[in-house]
Amino acid sequence: MTKKLLLLALAAMTLPTASQALPAADHAALANAINADMPQLMALYRDLHANPELSMTEVRSPAKLAAEARKLGFTVTEHVGKTGVVAVMKNGPGPVLLLRADMDALPVVEQTGLPFASKVRATARSGVETGVMHACGHDTHMTSWLGTARRLAAMKSQWSGTLVMILQPGEETGEGAKAMLDDGLYSRFPKPDYVLAFHDAAALPAGVIGVTPGYALANVDSVDISVKGVGGHGAYPQTTKDPIVLASRIVTTLQTLVSRENDPANPAVVTVGSFQAGAKHNIISDEARLQLTVRSYTPEVRKLLLDGIRRIARGEAIAAGMPEDRMPVVTIREGEFTPSTFNTEKLSARALALFTENFGPQRAIKTPAVMGGEDFSRYWLADKKIESLIFWVGGTPKAKWDAAGGDASKLPSLHSPFWAPEAETVIATATEALTITALDILRKG
Ligand SMILES: [Zn+2]
Ligand SMILES: [Zn+2]
Repeated sequence: MTKKLLLLALAAMTLPTASQALPAADHAALANAINADMPQLMALYRDLHANPELSMTEVRSPAKLAAEARKLGFTVTEHVGKTGVVAVMKNGPGPVLLLRADMDALPVVEQTGLPFASKVRATARSGVETGVMHACGHDTHMTSWLGTARRLAAMKSQWSGTLVMILQPGEETGEGAKAMLDDGLYSRFPKPDYVLAFHDAAALPAGVIGVTPGYALANVDSVDISVKGVGGHGAYPQTTKDPIVLASRIVTTLQTLVSRENDPANPAVVTVGSFQAGAKHNIISDEARLQLTVRSYTPEVRKLLLDGIRRIARGEAIAAGMPEDRMPVVTIREGEFTPSTFNTEKLSARALALFTENFGPQRAIKTPAVMGGEDFSRYWLADKKIESLIFWVGGTPKAKWDAAGGDASKLPSLHSPFWAPEAETVIATATEALTITALDILRKG
């Protein structure tokens, strides 16, 4: 080997690649420290699980976690975006990393049978009194958030930069990220170069991490269609315009948006989830109401679907001979829109390499995009120069996963009253994954 080649080889060996960010001994020390913290973290998890709070009414959970972050030396601001928390730790020069957990639970009556199952009841926005449950696993997110904050505070000498740890309200209603950004998340606090989060997953066995580079979750639109008719006696249809028949045609024609108008290579969903009309056998009503969920990844497909819905509703009404003043009214609920989530290529690849190195290839896999929605997308959309990643951490107990032959459709999904993730595995895995990614991003120069 020539001297030059030898130097090149030595240089290559000392290049800071992702896998060398944390020496093996430190990996073991980190895993041990998380293990030692697990009894405390599980006590917190059970407490959060038993005391769930609906979207934008989170009070107890943020207060509890804000107090914990203060003890660790973070500068903590509460009530950002109504009930959000921002905990900042400045630790020398380097990038700004934002780490996010969401806090809200769902109007679901828990049926897991767990000893710490929620018995909480509340009035949902619809006015209906309901049970409340952490059916999306945001309690595992909050617990891992604190687990990660503890590790990064304890390992302060091993990183350099600024850590912005946020607790976000109202993810399920698509409001919380927007509320925090509108309340100055990127102006009152250090603006991030990186944003990072995880979500527990029912479609992966416990402890398996899934990374989806690129589009990971969908644009989610809620659309209402009020289909007008001309009501009358069911025995004399000739004197009426039947909105049930018209709305049925609209529902059927809507199916052609995805099957005939959209490029099959671009995912899209149009689901009519609610169809309400009429009160009695022999009355033709004067209105039918449809509620749709409309999903896509790109702005182009979103536009094709929303424009198509307006056109089809109007076109079918014209075909039915409806007068101009009785045209269907299509309302796109912009306030409830969740934009699609994009995981940037660089950070996705870097994290997947880190997870593979740390957990082994069996526990770190690439996962396909899904049509669910997440308002985590907004942290990247606010400035696309930011590197952004939300990854999955599997929560389905391995024995149940194997019994179902790995078919997630046979198992409780997120939002199910039966969703009981193997919380200990989710929290330990997520805490470790978030911590090693943070240490890699904030490595000392
Ligand atoms: Zn959810
Ligand atoms: Zn969720």
